[in-house]
Amino acid sequence: MQKKKSSSRSTSKLSVSIKINERDNVAIAVRPEGLKKGSRLDDGTLVINHVPQGHKVALADLAKGDPIMMYGELIGYAAHNIDRGSWIDEARVHLPQAIPLEEIVRDDKPAPDLQPIEGHTFEGFRNEDGTVGTKNILGITASVHCVAAVADYAVRHIKQELLPRYPYVDDVIALNHSYGCGIAIDAPEAAIPIRTVKNLAVNPNLGGEVMVLGLGCEKLKPQQLLPAANKSETTIIELQNEELHGFDAMTSAILEAAEKKLARLNQRRRETCSASKLRVGLQCGGSDAFSGITANPAVGFAADLMVRAGATVVFSEVTEVRDAVHLLIPRTSNDVVAKALIREMAWYDRYLQIGGVDRSSNTSPGNKAGGLSNIVEKAFGSIVKSGTTPLVDVLGPGESLRTNGLVFAATPSSDFVCGTLQLSAGITLQVFTTGRGTPYGLAMAPVIKVSSRSNLARRWHDLIDLDAGRIATGSASIADVGWELFHLILDIASGRKTVAADRLGLHNDLILFNPAPIT
Ligand code: CA
Repeated sequence: MQKKKSSSRSTSKLSVSIKINERDNVAIAVRPEGLKKGSRLDDGTLVINHVPQGHKVALADLAKGDPIMMYGELIGYAAHNIDRGSWIDEARVHLPQAIPLEEIVRDDKPAPDLQPIEGHTFEGFRNEDGTVGTKNILGITASVHCVAAVADYAVRHIKQELLPRYPYVDDVIALNHSYGCGIAIDAPEAAIPIRTVKNLAVNPNLGGEVMVLGLGCEKLKPQQLLPAANKSETTIIELQNEELHGFDAMTSAILEAAEKKLARLNQRRRETCSASKLRVGLQCGGSDAFSGITANPAVGFAADLMVRAGATVVFSEVTEVRDAVHLLIPRTSNDVVAKALIREMAWYDRYLQIGGVDRSSNTSPGNKAGGLSNIVEKAFGSIVKSGTTPLVDVLGPGESLRTNGLVFAATPSSDFVCGTLQLSAGITLQVFTTGRGTPYGLAMAPVIKVSSRSNLARRWHDLIDLDAGRIATGSASIADVGWELFHLILDIASGRKTVAADRLGLHNDLILFNPAPIT
């Protein structure tokens, strides 16, 4: 079902524009200077006004109401008559209705013939539950936000006083969040933040040695957050415990418990593991029109490689999938998965409706300045990240991974909320594509940032890990960058290389998705 992006593109070094699919009646301006008025495109189109880089030019005369086609799909309708060769800015594109979910059918299509690839390995930390971490981190989780500052204080002291003695432990982090009390804990949707906090604590990068900090009077009980296999008294510390006299006693108790955990974590060593043990999350943020033609297709290529190697690949961001879900349904491995995908889309449609908005509220000013006219265009460019393999499972927000292969984990598109939910699903590494640029990073897992255009990679030379913009200029193919990313993932997962966000210590907070009431 996936469109063949490479078949109709022209990516010679002299290209000034890219037409993504043969059915398209628009092309994208590729070069930094955009398309100059009076210049001609390969198909003879005379450019009649300046078209900025990343923006669309009309390849045919369009009458008001005519469909505007990109990625071989309808992205909107002409808001006015549009002359061939003119710039199609966002004001000239009317947003089409979302395809009604009940009209989408799953017709059995043969899966693409992608042979398994074998022999790829990485050096990871094996866990007792069979998962493999890409880092060896001591995590201190919290049952309630009240203790967050104490957790931060303790982490600072553990890092200064204890961590230097445990060289095989990569980091100590607090899993602080805004949940735990002042909440309607019995509300049906409270299941989402609760399971998110719980599943974050069993992320494979935490080695099953997480400790829990609680207050004592909160609604969410610390005992609810401990992994089943790890319920020893020493891993829970409640600040209201009457035996703890004063702040010094609290922090001493935390440091004492942390030292025991550090000693155990320090016994672990990286071991050679099959690439099938990788769990890689995919996300985009600060997208532009290049995201869908450079970075996301390269990530999609790498996603196929990872699935072919037996790994787990997770993509998310409901609002950026909703308008392209009719392309994903035929890729689901069975009816159960198809229904689960529809269920998550429908849930989000209702969630937005209750909030009095619709999917058009997704696109940001930066997206639009980068050439993305609306959420439909953004969605077609976004799902390319998922590659071409069958979609084998769908997770609700905050649920844990339960199978290898390509998985959709329903999350908002918000970078930090999606990142938090993918960590709770159990990813051990994330690949993040960006066109506008963001310094985003996660403390719990490395984030490989892939730029959609080369000028961003040059300007942010020390923040971007891989430049996919070379695809637009023709100096690299989608396959070239896809393989490069695949090998970079193995290097990062092995600790042989470090991502920019980790090198600089740029880590965003965990931000829970809580659709339930706060009291
Ligand atoms: Ca995002």
